[in-house]
Amino acid sequence: MIKTEKIVHLKCSGGRKLRRVVREHYLREHVPCYSALCQAGCANDGKVLSAEVTHYVVPDVSVAGDYLEVLDFTELQGIVFTQTACQAVQHSRGRRQYNRLRGLLKDPRHDCVLFANEFQEYSYCPREKGESQDKWQTRCVYNAAVWYHNHLAGLKPVVMLTEDKDAVAQYSSLSSGVYVISVQDYLKNFWPELQAAQELYCSITQALQEKESEGTEREYAEHLPADILEAGIKSGRYIQGTLNVNKHRSQHEAFVRMEGSSNKNTDLNSDVLVSGSKNRNRAVHGDTIVVELLPKSEWRGKATSLTAGTGDEKTGEDAQSQPMPTGRVVGILQRNWRDYVVTFPPREETQSQSRSSQRVLVIPWDQRIPKIRISTQQAEALQDHRVVVRMDSWESTSLYPNGHSVRVLGRAGELETQVQTILVENCIHVPPFSEAQLREMPVTSAESPWTVDPGQASERLDLRSTHLVFSIDPAGCEDVDDALSVRMLPGGRRLELGVHIADVTHFVAEGSLTDLEARARATTYYLADRRYDMLPGVLSADLCSLLGGVDRYAMSVLWELDAQTVEVSRVWYGRTLIRSSYKLQYELAQALLDGRQAQEEVPELAPLPADARDAKLAQLVQALETLTHIARQLRAQRDKGGALELEGVEVRAQLDEEKNITALVPRQPLEVHETVAECMIHANHWVARKIQESFPQHALLRHHPPPRQEFFGQLVDSAKAMGYAIDTRSNKALADSLDRATDPQDPLVNRMLRLMATQAMSNALYFSTGSCSQDQYYHYGLALDRYTHFTSPIRRYADIVVHRLLTAAISLEKGQVPKGPNKASVLNKELEEMSQHINCKNRAAQQAQKLSTELFQCLYFKDKDPQEHQDCVADAVIYAIRANGVLVFVPQYGLKGAVYMRNREGQVLSVNADGSCEWQSGSIQRHPDHISTSSSSGSSTFSLFHHITVRISVEPSRCHSDSLHMEMISNKPHRSPAAGPQSTQTQGCRPSLVQEVVRQAEEASQQAQEKAARGPKLSKEEREFRQSKVPNLYSLLEEARELALTDLSICTTR
Ligand SMILES: [Zn+2]
Repeated sequence: MIKTEKIVHLKCSGGRKLRRVVREHYLREHVPCYSALCQAGCANDGKVLSAEVTHYVVPDVSVAGDYLEVLDFTELQGIVFTQTACQAVQHSRGRRQYNRLRGLLKDPRHDCVLFANEFQEYSYCPREKGESQDKWQTRCVYNAAVWYHNHLAGLKPVVMLTEDKDAVAQYSSLSSGVYVISVQDYLKNFWPELQAAQELYCSITQALQEKESEGTEREYAEHLPADILEAGIKSGRYIQGTLNVNKHRSQHEAFVRMEGSSNKNTDLNSDVLVSGSKNRNRAVHGDTIVVELLPKSEWRGKATSLTAGTGDEKTGEDAQSQPMPTGRVVGILQRNWRDYVVTFPPREETQSQSRSSQRVLVIPWDQRIPKIRISTQQAEALQDHRVVVRMDSWESTSLYPNGHSVRVLGRAGELETQVQTILVENCIHVPPFSEAQLREMPVTSAESPWTVDPGQASERLDLRSTHLVFSIDPAGCEDVDDALSVRMLPGGRRLELGVHIADVTHFVAEGSLTDLEARARATTYYLADRRYDMLPGVLSADLCSLLGGVDRYAMSVLWELDAQTVEVSRVWYGRTLIRSSYKLQYELAQALLDGRQAQEEVPELAPLPADARDAKLAQLVQALETLTHIARQLRAQRDKGGALELEGVEVRAQLDEEKNITALVPRQPLEVHETVAECMIHANHWVARKIQESFPQHALLRHHPPPRQEFFGQLVDSAKAMGYAIDTRSNKALADSLDRATDPQDPLVNRMLRLMATQAMSNALYFSTGSCSQDQYYHYGLALDRYTHFTSPIRRYADIVVHRLLTAAISLEKGQVPKGPNKASVLNKELEEMSQHINCKNRAAQQAQKLSTELFQCLYFKDKDPQEHQDCVADAVIYAIRANGVLVFVPQYGLKGAVYMRNREGQVLSVNADGSCEWQSGSIQRHPDHISTSSSSGSSTFSLFHHITVRISVEPSRCHSDSLHMEMISNKPHRSPAAGPQSTQTQGCRPSLVQEVVRQAEEASQQAQEKAARGPKLSKEEREFRQSKVPNLYSLLEEARELALTDLSICTTR
């Protein structure tokens, strides 16, 4: 080992002064090369570059810094990032770029490695006197490239990428086998097919050039340096938080949600308003920012009137509420920029813009994001398309942020483009599973089906002949996560309940490619018309799925219970081998319980002789009844503790075989859903107890924090207006008072109140036990002291983590020491990061599902004439009063929205004698429980919880998503001409888990129907024709979808 000295320049924390430091620098002969071709026996642990590629690529500092997105293409393989380049990116490109690079290096799906060239004795070169930093770094990278080539005995050509023309001239002919070329030449010569990479290259280059030619006139105040911000936050002068832009008033109104502990300003317990773009000072929705409060005289109130998304802004004093803390942005701690879907401005505008330059202001689909300036020649050609762009910078001299385009998503208006937009906007990345991932899967086929391994059989508790195991699932369900068993134990006083869960972790090894992909996805994504699985189909629909009549591995929990009180006296956790006897559908199980169904309906019994069939059926019905009994007892216990029945708006689109929406139907729960759900809650609770006891510092649990009292305001006020008292002090008090708040005349009142209670709730979240104190473990909604997710490992990654923890807990009990690092604090930190990641992905999944539901709601109404079609007229209930209108709920479609009482011309809604409404000039008056208008024809009153009739129409939007518009056409309730099952529904208050089960039920049966109805396969031409036929947006078939996913860049080559 050789010691040398290295001079480094350190930036001070403020970023202004440079400090010269002499550092000891140790050189070694052996530094791993991480190549599979290594001839020198390097200690290459972990990720290794493939030997298969035709060449290796070594990007220099500026390429790694500026063109990392191009190197991000998985097609580009065999990339060696030098330590020199990585450190330079870290110091000069900011945290975002550095994290991206680190992510790339860590990701095993990307064929790239880090080479510590500055520690390698023969590749390191000290900086020469008078040599500029840039030149020296380029020389270091070149030396590293040469070293690589020599180290691998010339077996692999090495290509160094640099944008420095001098370097190309200087080095390109210096050493054979090492090529020095520009990124553009590289892409042209090596990747002529990869059009998307070349376009991305051009777009980044243009953005870089534009940046250089930026003006100097300042549009915004400069941001303060980091050390001043830090000191200001510490002293309480500044406040740190996340910027949240009001979607409906995106230009004018944003709020800063404070981050709890960082705030020393104790007399401040609300959000801080940031009004106007100058005060927002280049902060973008989602950024972590620092604000300074303005003097109280400049505080303002938030707008209380309803405003359309189209920018009908009202800023008059009368429309504003009480002044609230108001501030201005003084600095940005972290940009949380992502990929944005945008639309080019209409043709007329681009023409006037492009006369002076190539710059175009594109309009983000997300209304909270400002317009972005990009350079392109394609503004004209891409008029009708949606495009993905990234923001690069936002200087104080520029009114708008600068960015570059990344890829074309597709034509606006096409269903596939709209769905892809939802995915991009929520950072959901679900490419098809790669070859390498699929190679990890066990092989099973009709010729050689997968079989139980004898070794596994002997290690597992074999329940195949001792237990009657069955599953209850939605019709057509393929991924059976869970199965149940129940039996009376000898003596007749004790029962044994069993919950058996697919043993996914047996097939998905920790750290495998499949595992990493599942972790990255974190969940299966359910959209209104499709789903994206977390695991490959061979696992989710076959080997892990607890199908009937086949041997399957399971993770089981078995409880010994008192037959009457269901008190648990013993519990066993472990791996089992099961064979499910029945794969029941919910409807059939419910029918068997109700005594409504003949035995012929149970398919598994059909082949048996009559007497055997009767005996089997009696046994099954007995088991179902026992389960129901147990579930009712368990539920009663949780109710005593304060479990809540909440209400979500759950409506699904019913599609016909052409994917046309035929109806929007509210979901219908059955008691058996609740029975299954209760058993799953029980299992999740007991597994939570087990892993928390075994790993008090690093178990993955799920808690549901109590809601903030101020969020109950609307619920309490609205209930009070109706004469009900809602007590929100505890979950028990809330549950009881909600139960009392029923109007015998109108069941919807109770439903609405539960809906408001649900809206006031915080989200349930995963966490690591070491990161919270025990009193924070509580699950408010389920009223359980500990809870986790164990029962759906096929579609939730959290459950996979929990299965691994449970396995570790079981081996710990047997005296085996778990493998891997076992320092509790490290494991806690890792697990907490994982929890955050899963929470974040779950939010994205929920948001995507909501958006896709809204998309389909719009599509449902889009081709119906609101003046003619009876579906466009519906009954609605007023649930909140605003200054210029009301918020209503439409039960038939599960829609919520605004109904204006004053239009843009200033007219107000007035009611005629027959209840019909019309616009007249007049005034409007808001009260706590009603709103009234007065005009020449008299005064009209609209009260909370009153039923009205609304007309629903679609408001199209060029750059954003279409939205639904509702107008009141009568202040009388609407009587649907065909009051079928879609009309007012009395039940429907179920905990969220039940809703989840229900949702799955309906989805799967919908899929089953579709499958059955699909009939003969269509020809390729037919398919293509259907997909491109604009009016019929839903005739998208599986194959077309696959195609679009495989190559999203397909349309960029046009
Ligand atoms: Zn080596």
